[in-house]
Amino acid sequence: MKPAPFAYQKARTLKEAVALLAKHKDDARLLAGGQSLIATLNMRLSQPALLIDINGIKGLDGIAKKGKFVEIGALARHAQVERSPVIAAHAPLIARAMPHIGHPAIRNRGTFGGSIAFADPAAELPACLVALDGEVDIAGPKGRRKVKADAFFKGLFETALRPQEMVAAVRFAAADKNSRVGFAELARRHGDYAIVGLAATAKADGKGLKDVRLAFFGIGATPVRARKSETALAKGDIDGAVALLDLDPHDDVQATAKVKKHLAGVLLRRVARQLMAPS
Ligand SMILES: Cc1cc2nc3c(=O)[nH]c(=O)nc-3n(C[C@H](O)[C@H](O)[C@H](O)COP(=O)(O)OP(=O)(O)OC[C@H]3O[C@@H](n4cnc5c(N)ncnc54)[C@H](O)[C@@H]3O)c2cc1C
Repeated sequence: MKPAPFAYQKARTLKEAVALLAKHKDDARLLAGGQSLIATLNMRLSQPALLIDINGIKGLDGIAKKGKFVEIGALARHAQVERSPVIAAHAPLIARAMPHIGHPAIRNRGTFGGSIAFADPAAELPACLVALDGEVDIAGPKGRRKVKADAFFKGLFETALRPQEMVAAVRFAAADKNSRVGFAELARRHGDYAIVGLAATAKADGKGLKDVRLAFFGIGATPVRARKSETALAKGDIDGAVALLDLDPHDDVQATAKVKKHLAGVLLRRVARQLMAPS
């Protein structure tokens, strides 16, 4: 299929993009990497009157360590993040997740901000941002506001973004010597969206763990925290963490709820070992 007709405008600055969004609101869509948007246009799941191309906005693709935080600009391509020395040194969870996102051609175009804004429940990066207790830096007509990742992902493809706002960057604490991360996903083929996945962070605490954060993806409408399992894992109790998994997945095209729940337990054991015995 072909998309419905649309007008096209190229924004040169963040201010210009936001002004166009404020003017056209729900009639407009931002075009970043186009890896999800173009498919939805072609299938006519979305028929915006205007596409606002943000690819020409300079300075929106930065990846930097700023004090104790890592900041990734919305237009940073997945491939750029994957190869970034800043990410390799200070964001090991993101580094582990990146190769699982689609294939090289998709990673060459797809953007970090696009993935966060699109909020696919089976996507890796929203879950990573929740596990990292990160925040989304949002640009709107009245300036910038920050929303914690836990509050940003509100429902199925639904975020805290208002129609006249866009993601400008994401930010999270840089890893330190006590940081532990874990990542695992099950997909039918490498590069497919996950059937179930798990992104996790914790802090080493003597021989144990504290501040455990487990964010499952592919299991609900948004990234799902498994809070009872987090508490059990902080006590070193892997069997208890699996038994306490209070997830409520639904059947989808990939697997039944029962299979997903079983796989979530398998992934939790793998990730728990990564958190407890880092390589
Ligand atoms: C075959 C295939 C396999 C894929 N596999 C995976 C996978 O395994 N895991 C995964 O996570 N993703 C996967 N993707 C999706 C890919 O990661 C996309 O890049 C990503 O979902 C969207 O990023 P984008 O830059 O392409 O956004 P676009 O497609 O340009 O936009 C997506 C949506 O986000 C909005 N948007 C974009 N940027 C912003 C912004 N800065 N602020 C506000 N709104 C914005 C757009 O208006 C649009 O509604 C796959 C895609 C394909 C085609």
